[in-house]
Amino acid sequence: MKEIILIKDGELALKGLNRSSFEDMLVKNIRRRIKPFGNFEFRKSQSTITVSPMDDFADLDAATDEISRVFGIAGYSRAAVCEKDMDKICEIAPVYLYEQLSNAKTFKVEAKRSDKKFPLKSPEISATLGGKILEKFPHLRVDVRNPDITVTVEIRDEAYVRGNQLKGAGGMPCGSSGRALILISGGIDSPVAGYMMSKRGLDLVGIHFASPPYTSLRAEEKVHDLLSKVARYSGRIWLHTVPFTEIQEEIREKCPEEYFTIIMRRFMMRLSNMLAKTTDCHALITGESVAQVASQTTLALGCTDAVAEFPVFRPCIGMDKEEIITISRKIDTFNISIQPFEDCCTVFTPKHPKTRPHLPDIEEAEKVLDIDGLCQRAFEGIKRISITSEGVEND
Ligand code: ATP
Ligand code: MG
Repeated sequence: MKEIILIKDGELALKGLNRSSFEDMLVKNIRRRIKPFGNFEFRKSQSTITVSPMDDFADLDAATDEISRVFGIAGYSRAAVCEKDMDKICEIAPVYLYEQLSNAKTFKVEAKRSDKKFPLKSPEISATLGGKILEKFPHLRVDVRNPDITVTVEIRDEAYVRGNQLKGAGGMPCGSSGRALILISGGIDSPVAGYMMSKRGLDLVGIHFASPPYTSLRAEEKVHDLLSKVARYSGRIWLHTVPFTEIQEEIREKCPEEYFTIIMRRFMMRLSNMLAKTTDCHALITGESVAQVASQTTLALGCTDAVAEFPVFRPCIGMDKEEIITISRKIDTFNISIQPFEDCCTVFTPKHPKTRPHLPDIEEAEKVLDIDGLCQRAFEGIKRISITSEGVEND
């Protein structure tokens, strides 16, 4: 019996004239993501994409698992391919869905007849197959409102028979909203922020600030592990690691302690601006949440934003830590995030940071620093690696 994957696209359905280009992008993304699992053929019509294996080597299970994490998909299911013949459909459906039908108490049949030449109308298809299923599974009851299993028959170029549809990853196809730079630390919040913005259709480029020897190599590897989890959804991420030690030491030496963190965060923004420009990114993403720490008060965020040259997306801004943690567990980053390695933010943390900083004071305090020179040197020291769901990719 030939099996395929049926995919229903998501919010795409709302996009009017752009719809077809969004769909093309979704197909391109799915194609790239399941390429490692064999040769597949893609077809799209009426907000459905069919993915058919081209030979016996194609790994349909692995492809289905990957598809569950591709953004832009509302729902997906496996389906049996069948001749467009009612007898054949009645023969295949009880066999193909044997386990699901055996375990269910109630069911209904839904028919979608895209091929208007098919001799039976939708209600007739449902009635015929429903009767057949009741014959073979006498324990079942029909429930049209809230059945345990909905058996769907779609009559297209071929007939497809499937059980319940699974919920897709939702959102928009990666790349359809452009590209943004995610400021990734080793914490809980920034990987979640990256995941959330990727879901809105952004391709991700990563930037991480490392301050060796104050921060360890293991802290950098932790960031690689986190991004590798995010890449399961977003696809490949190029991570740029910026040497941040000189900047932090200069701040510690020359600026008032209460401003350490906020001045450091402004340097992160300046370097992110520089990198965004050279990597074709049009927004910055951080994991900040109002009032979580001193540098995330309203006034502190304002001082940080004052140097940003791009919109700063902060999808966690209104979320409680618990809500952020729920997502981090879902995307499997939580257990990595809680490993104890120093981040550059925790080096030289002031004892009494200013929670209500005023921009002119900060700008005054920064005047003693050679801002351009510091940024230029850090920028020149950037190292770039490619991270996929498999981990760090070798060149
Ligand atoms: P997270 O859990 O994401 O580390 P946090 O609550 O610890 O966040 P901060 O350490 O103040 O908050 O950092 C706020 C945001 O700044 C982070 O979410 C991240 O986007 C960015 N950031 C912090 N440290 C780094 C770093 N070393 N490299 C890159 N970005 C960073
Ligand atoms: Mg942090």
